[in-house]
Amino acid sequence: MAAAGRDVISFGAGEPDFPTPDHVVAAAVRAAGDPSNHHYTANVGLPPLRAAIAQYTKTHSGVDVGDSQILVTNGAKQAIFQAFAALLDPGDEVLLPAPHWVTYPSGIELAGGISVSVPTDMEGGFKVTVGDLESHLTAKTKLLVFVSPSNPTGAVYTAAEAAAIGEWARDNDVWVLTDEIYQRLVYDGEDTAPSIAAVTRGLDDVVLINGVAKSFAMTGWRVGWMIGPDDVVAAAARHQSHATGNVNNVAQIAALEAITGPQDSVATMREAFDKRRQTMVSMLSQARGVTCAEPAGAFYVFPGVEGLLGEAHPNSAALAESLLEEAGVAVVPGESFGAPGHVRLSYALSDSDLEQGVTRMLDMFGRL
Ligand code: PMP
Repeated sequence: MAAAGRDVISFGAGEPDFPTPDHVVAAAVRAAGDPSNHHYTANVGLPPLRAAIAQYTKTHSGVDVGDSQILVTNGAKQAIFQAFAALLDPGDEVLLPAPHWVTYPSGIELAGGISVSVPTDMEGGFKVTVGDLESHLTAKTKLLVFVSPSNPTGAVYTAAEAAAIGEWARDNDVWVLTDEIYQRLVYDGEDTAPSIAAVTRGLDDVVLINGVAKSFAMTGWRVGWMIGPDDVVAAAARHQSHATGNVNNVAQIAALEAITGPQDSVATMREAFDKRRQTMVSMLSQARGVTCAEPAGAFYVFPGVEGLLGEAHPNSAALAESLLEEAGVAVVPGESFGAPGHVRLSYALSDSDLEQGVTRMLDMFGRL
């Protein structure tokens, strides 16, 4: 619609709207001119980047890892895909707290696994409890996907909540895949979200996923990583060696600069997101038929829109369609995340677009 000249404001983006920090881009430009980066390198990642990731993981997740436990991947997506491929046998069940990001069920299915959705709700802060997990545990349960901060809800687990879940997984021989891609996008004075891998004593069967995409506005560079036990990482590395080989060297050097260079841009972006988060929540809470909790992390709100459903829009997908057609506002319907009755709005867009977009929604829904 935008290409056809319609004025559309999109709350759909799953990525920061900022450019990559200048010092990171400059490092990449230098790297592109160095012929040693014009050739194949180790499939598992450049040695200095793996060493820096080990240090970064210690600093931000609080976990000690050896370089051999790290596999540099084409974005966190490849890490997630390969972790499922390495860990799952056909028929293995994966506990997937819902609402969840759309890529997990597909990755699980591609590996022959079965997603078992574990529902959460706004009243419970969109977080699962040990009781919720226990009621979905079977003899076939192999893995739990744990994402904090969450896409699409922005929910962040406290250290105590994460530890209780980690201990449950450990005691039930359930592997944990912890996706920490949004770990530094937390508000309310925190610096990082607690890592389940750090707060759970003796949690050995864990694969940690991270990358530079969200914290450093580097989604297009495609650098992520997985960290896990040597045998799991070796299996994933064999897979990667035949699928893609090494990640683009220039992008790896950019990632190295991002995680080892000045970190002030992370704080600057976080402050901007925090301000937009507050504007978004306070504006949306004036809308008729909308219930909106304040998320503690990432850059999404996930309001309930049940109050707006009826004959005109029987479900949130139809509501999203009407919003686009009538108001020129794009949101992602909750159906995509296994949570109908909600919509996801990203607040990774400019202040003026944000205010104008939510104003259009208020005009359409009516104000309280
Ligand atoms: N994990 C989560 C929870 C995400 O939301 C995303 C991006 N939407 C990713 C991983 C993917 O990150 P990358 O761009 O590094 O593949």
